[in-house]
Amino acid sequence: MEKIAIAIDGPAGAGKSTIAKAVASKLGIAYIDTGAMYRAVALNILRNKLQISDIDKICELTRNTDIAIKGGRVFLNGGDVSREIRDNEVGKLSSPVSAIPYVREKLVELQRKMAQSESVIMDGRDIGTNVLKDADVKIFLTASIDERSMRRYLEFKSRGCSVDLKSVKSDITKRDELDTTRKLNPLKPADDAVIIDTTSKSIKEVIEEVLSIIKARCNDAL
Ligand code: C5P
Repeated sequence: MEKIAIAIDGPAGAGKSTIAKAVASKLGIAYIDTGAMYRAVALNILRNKLQISDIDKICELTRNTDIAIKGGRVFLNGGDVSREIRDNEVGKLSSPVSAIPYVREKLVELQRKMAQSESVIMDGRDIGTNVLKDADVKIFLTASIDERSMRRYLEFKSRGCSVDLKSVKSDITKRDELDTTRKLNPLKPADDAVIIDTTSKSIKEVIEEVLSIIKARCNDAL
């Protein structure tokens, strides 16, 4: 099979990871969740009790930190942090952390290396606009703020976290604002991305839609 690269971007709660994971498994290619990598850096900062204003210390810490994704699990200095990085506090910190130039530089380099060796579906905020500018297919998933907040709220509840819908909505709104207005690689659709609004669509419908776009573009490679 020829190597292919698929970029899936969009705001928090748009369904990126659910869709990307399912499509990757149907196509038998690797799935890389780049948000998980920024979350791992944020978790590292919390564990080391640094403040977001300690930019030099954050850069030094990140320089000496090993972040890896293997078999869908996320590792921080060799320890599996896949569950811990989903905590609300980690999610909230990951947004300001991802605006630090050195953090982006290090993670983007890692992400590009991952896509060099095999076919990938990568999801994030800047995959189509920056990390994999030459991706074969670029998809931008979005949904209304109420729908995205409800999805995140239900996800937290299913993991036994005590959260309320109003604060989840307020956190997502803040994260959208930070992600779309930061100077470096802000969240926005690539000019050549297909935009899919998932608000009133089922997961199955969106998976089918994404698969048919990929098949139309990459038929020879699949
Ligand atoms: O996708 P997820 O919500 O796990 O991402 C956590 C945070 O990481 C996002 O809010 C965003 O600030 C940052 N991020 C990014 N670029 C990516 C992926 C995530 O800036 N490619």
